[in-house]
Amino acid sequence: MIKVRDLHFSYNGMEILRGIDFKAGTGEFIAILGPNGAGKSTFVKCLVGIVRCKGVEILGRPMGEYSPRELARAVAYVPQRVGRGFMTVFDTVLLGRRPYMGLTPSREDLKTVENALRRLGIEHLALKRTNEISGGELQKVSIARALAQGARILVLDEPTNNLDLKSQLEVVKLAKEFSENGLSIVVMHDVNLALRFAGRFIFMKGGRIVADGGREVLKPSLFREVYGVDVTIEEVRRGIPLVVPL
Ligand code: ADP
Repeated sequence: MIKVRDLHFSYNGMEILRGIDFKAGTGEFIAILGPNGAGKSTFVKCLVGIVRCKGVEILGRPMGEYSPRELARAVAYVPQRVGRGFMTVFDTVLLGRRPYMGLTPSREDLKTVENALRRLGIEHLALKRTNEISGGELQKVSIARALAQGARILVLDEPTNNLDLKSQLEVVKLAKEFSENGLSIVVMHDVNLALRFAGRFIFMKGGRIVADGGREVLKPSLFREVYGVDVTIEEVRRGIPLVVPL
């Protein structure tokens, strides 16, 4: 579904992504990890077309051939920070339907919004303005909007920031469910949460992918290399490994 070949990206002449090769398909839940400034957000911005880069292919077509509307039908993205305003939660989620809508929303559009609100457990907020809800609630509104987009690829950039423990689990489980019929790519810092739910782990450092694979890539030497931290990896229960910094 996504193919990236030798991706380079610079901000103001400063190279941020230094030759990334990456392929991902339906059924995958990929966690992207790495220290601050590694290039994780920039990488996912390239994948979703927020910054236009050469060498990204989505569903078999080069990114450059997509119109904004087509791209929004293919890829849904939730950035780290989203703005607030006077718009209601319902209307904000309805914006996710814009790639499909004419001047007015159809019944199906409204139904899709209701389903997305229910999926995130925020139906009760539907008529509140987005400047009247908490940071965690706002995060869920953005995710609901992304779901309403009906895309096959879901990209979330640190979606569990601001969320309480239960909500963190809900959001990561949702990304997991999404990946049953699509592709989920989630930038996250909590390696243990990633370990519980993701099937593939990509570690970035200095604008490069330094590890890419299943649980087998999570070795103490990798944490030393990527974060400069010594860890021990222990099996807790039912074979779930736990990474403990020493
Ligand atoms: P991460 O998500 O891993 O923390 P980012 O992709 O946000 O890393 O940032 C990678 C590098 O790119 C950092 O050095 C950051 O300062 C730089 N950077 C990010 N966004 C911009 C921007 N809009 N303009 C210039 N430099 C940027």
